[in-house]
Amino acid sequence: MNTEPLTSLKGVGEKTEKLFAKVGVYNLQQLLHYYPRDYDCFHSPIPLHECKIDEKNAILGRVRHSPSVKTNQKKSVVILELYEEPLRLQLIWFHMPFLRSTLKTGSIFVFRGKIQERNGRLIMEQPEIYTPAAYEALQSSLQPVYGLTKGLTSKMVAKAVAQVLDDCAPARDYLPSEIRTEYNLCEINYALSQIHFPKDKESLLTARKRLAFEEFFLFLLSLRRLKEQTADTLNSFPIHAVWKTEEVIETLPYQLTGAQMRVWNEIETDMKGRTRMSRLIQGDVGSGKTILAFLAMILSAENGYQSALMVPTEVLAYQHYESLCRLLEENHLTDYQPMLLTGSTKASEKKKIYRQLSDGSCRMIIGTHALIQEKVQYHNLALVITDEQHRFGVRQRTALAEKGEPPNVLVMSATPIPRTLAIILYGDLDISILDELPKNRLPIKNCVVDTSYRPKAYRFIEKQIALGKQVYVICPMVEESEGLDAENVTDYTKKLKNELSPGIKVDMLHGQMKPSQKNEIMERFAAGEIQVLVSTTVIEVGVNVPNATVMMIENAERFGLAQLHQLRGRVGRGADQSYCIFIQGNKEKEVTKRLEILKSSNDGFYVASEDLKLRGSGDLLGTRQSGEMEFSIADIYRDADLLKKAGEAVSRLLLDDPDLEKEEHLELKNIFADYLNPENHEIGL
Ligand code: ADP
Ligand code: MG
Repeated sequence: MNTEPLTSLKGVGEKTEKLFAKVGVYNLQQLLHYYPRDYDCFHSPIPLHECKIDEKNAILGRVRHSPSVKTNQKKSVVILELYEEPLRLQLIWFHMPFLRSTLKTGSIFVFRGKIQERNGRLIMEQPEIYTPAAYEALQSSLQPVYGLTKGLTSKMVAKAVAQVLDDCAPARDYLPSEIRTEYNLCEINYALSQIHFPKDKESLLTARKRLAFEEFFLFLLSLRRLKEQTADTLNSFPIHAVWKTEEVIETLPYQLTGAQMRVWNEIETDMKGRTRMSRLIQGDVGSGKTILAFLAMILSAENGYQSALMVPTEVLAYQHYESLCRLLEENHLTDYQPMLLTGSTKASEKKKIYRQLSDGSCRMIIGTHALIQEKVQYHNLALVITDEQHRFGVRQRTALAEKGEPPNVLVMSATPIPRTLAIILYGDLDISILDELPKNRLPIKNCVVDTSYRPKAYRFIEKQIALGKQVYVICPMVEESEGLDAENVTDYTKKLKNELSPGIKVDMLHGQMKPSQKNEIMERFAAGEIQVLVSTTVIEVGVNVPNATVMMIENAERFGLAQLHQLRGRVGRGADQSYCIFIQGNKEKEVTKRLEILKSSNDGFYVASEDLKLRGSGDLLGTRQSGEMEFSIADIYRDADLLKKAGEAVSRLLLDDPDLEKEEHLELKNIFADYLNPENHEIGL
């Protein structure tokens, strides 16, 4: 593995290195596997009358008059008119006065950009300019577009990647050649170069297939390892007492649903059983998984054992910790000493926690992946629970399960995966399904609208707030970013403060804030001190504030349906009527169709299966269901077939060479070791 730092590349200094770190790229290997999230296609230039409003168009045009240039102290504007009677298109550039000399009368260019209609006029802002020859050269290519952070452009990433591909020695392929032949997969160096700089659509798909297969392959290999380690191991933590959990269930302010009772029985039976528990609880958002986790933790503690609950975000860790403390207080069980351990826990506090974990006085711990760091020693860890499993990898699960005697394992997930796939993806687990929502819930009312609906939405929000309710507004970005046309939390918060009646408390939350700040904001929102929370998707998983009844999602077109469903799951968690407003920031019909699926159903399984039907092969990479499982390029729905094949391939390999000891599997063995090392896979927000 090429672990050289990025600064070994020409043109990458410390500043750029830091930007790359923000997107999780620290070395050359990670850079190569930082796949484009999309590709820019250069379509043939078209005449003006064929252009599509609100979409990117390339227009071939002749400069008839030299452009007008207006300059004042703050800015300069260059305007050029293109004519095609009876149509005319106004091209506008800001801060580029020098263009005047480029745009000579009589010359012909291709202008590329989004065409908008404003007051009956067609305009294109900041169009790219190409000579016809330069454009033609680009036409056959697909330019990579990367997931970015402020200051990092796709061009910068592409340049760095190109350098690695050109200058570094080719990698030896770690997928055994017999597997590559059998499943018709291309070679690794070809795959990497084509995924970044595809020659054409076909080679892109070839590359993608190989890389997706590889992701599944490594994943399933580690799953198999996990299963071997844990299958039929004896339960070293016998259960004697079961009274406390019964009391807790009695005193809950609600009655457990039939499904919760059934699944709780399954958990209890497992934990009392002779063999270790390995169980997945799959239940849609809001089905009430948390209480089951708490009950299992209480059962462990009552029998003198430790339990750990691991979650993917600090916000969620904090929230679960608070609710667990409340539950224990209500039941006079505070001597179980629940504690919270996350990346931002103070050093002195950490020391104390480590001590109390290793001497056994702390019996319940909730935290992020800080829980699996090497320093953490447990005393008698009997139960490990991971919440929002789809955000973790098998690797994190393995790591936590390796602390001491193999503990009972419970994983919880809201990702709606059809049973056939769940059996492969969770091959080492028994599956429990929570298929019932608490009775007091009213179905969420949904609407899909465009941005012109905002004033109405704001008035609606004011009414809900007057009723004492709270509101989430989701924006895809943290701050303004060049070239990306989407709402951002920072500016939106300011804007919303002006739009809503004075006195309404609006605040914001995003992943770049310090963890302590995030916790404080969440706490104030939960306490009702903040009425409207403008946030990125940091609140996507798990967050539970039942008093929030409105979810408004800006640029809904930028999210996968599964993610939108999770976001929507933040409301409708109490007895009140809740609402979800999806704002579509573009006018694409395909997007409207996808969003209509959400409008028509609140059922995660239905949403996922309809989404799958809609996604044709027209999509180059398919709309990523971001945050889903741990795959960066593979998609469990779209690539279901490949997933099955990877499963087959793993079985065959392990039959032939169970410990990967053969010479020809050496590369694979090394890559696999890297893959299993959780240190290589920081989980960010
Ligand atoms: P999820 O399955 O999405 O993790 P949670 O466990 O966070 O859902 O539960 C969502 C909300 O529903 C919480 O406020 C919880 O207290 C409440 N809840 C859980 N079970 C029930 C029930 N049986 N009846 C009523 N409310 C419930
Ligand atoms: Mg949850």
